[in-house]
Amino acid sequence: MRPAVARIDLDALRHNYALARHRHGGRALAVIKANAYGHGAIRCANALLDEADGFAVAIMEEAIALREAGITRPLLVLEGVFEAAELAVASQLELWLVVHHEEQLRMIETTDFGGTIPVWLKINSGMNRAGFEPDQASRVWERLQRTGKVGEIVLMTHFARADEPQVITTDEQVRLFDQATARLPGPRSLSNSAGVLGWPVAHRDWARPGILLYGADPMPGDPSGLQPVMTLESAVMAVREIPVGAAIGYGGRFRAERPTRVGLVAMGYADGYPRSAPDGTPVAVDGIRTRLIGRVSMDMLTIDLTDLPDAGPGSRVELWGRNIPINRIAEGAGTIAYELLCNVKRVRFDYRG
Ligand SMILES: *Cc1c(COP(=O)(O)O)cnc(C)c1O
Repeated sequence: MRPAVARIDLDALRHNYALARHRHGGRALAVIKANAYGHGAIRCANALLDEADGFAVAIMEEAIALREAGITRPLLVLEGVFEAAELAVASQLELWLVVHHEEQLRMIETTDFGGTIPVWLKINSGMNRAGFEPDQASRVWERLQRTGKVGEIVLMTHFARADEPQVITTDEQVRLFDQATARLPGPRSLSNSAGVLGWPVAHRDWARPGILLYGADPMPGDPSGLQPVMTLESAVMAVREIPVGAAIGYGGRFRAERPTRVGLVAMGYADGYPRSAPDGTPVAVDGIRTRLIGRVSMDMLTIDLTDLPDAGPGSRVELWGRNIPINRIAEGAGTIAYELLCNVKRVRFDYRG
């Protein structure tokens, strides 16, 4: 069997959720959209059943899959519905819906779906992506109430730059949101992971932590005590020696400056390891750091074993996890941990805890 595996530590997931809930206060929806950022939504939801106040996914299809898997906890759909027919499904499955644009509001007003749906009313406080304009907040809130078809209304907004401690936009967003909603009753929800970790001013009734649950810290240099949940791992399958001047792999990107022992590893971009990772990207072989050399292929990659004489076929290779911070890999590859985690596929998943 090919040794490529994503090891998922569910104790670490529970640890990170508890940390988020404690840091924020109040209640916290565990964000498990996009298959729990690549970790497996059903497994992660089940692991958090006893502690999570509820869950959030992006789309109806994800919510339906969780309900079908027997997850009965509160479940928020962050993008809300795309068509009116989904309202009856949401009502029947007791989902909570974000309402963030006029068309969604009109669907609720004009559709007879039976029952009442708890709504999270999203206000655009500066990200300019989704949400009603601040000066519309009261009007929209009243229109929702008047339908008689919504349950409790939670007021929410989302931050564009909360992972940047130095910029003032998060404070501005909080202020704008507070002004726009000052006269409206109901719980509030402002903070994603970065809000939880870096912005006490944004702590309200509900937090919505995502990436931090998986142990990737969105704040630069924050010693937050998060534990990585996924360790992406494989093994050396073959070793070769190349002389000075020899090039490795597609494009001959890496050229040996010394006689080099090259380890061939069963992991490639089709598994989710980024093709954009440069030479020198760290990997750990049996716990000892070395580096990627040569371009990442679809199914394989190559690493430098010159200084690791004991390493050979079968040696365990960690691509990210306990020894190699995923943020380090993301930075080198010009992306973010979110994207790397969401991209993991084809490998075996091994759950612990
Ligand atoms: C994805 C998402 C979150 C979680 O964001 P993280 O940065 O992963 O913590 C929170 N709120 C909304 C609206 C989201 O779309």
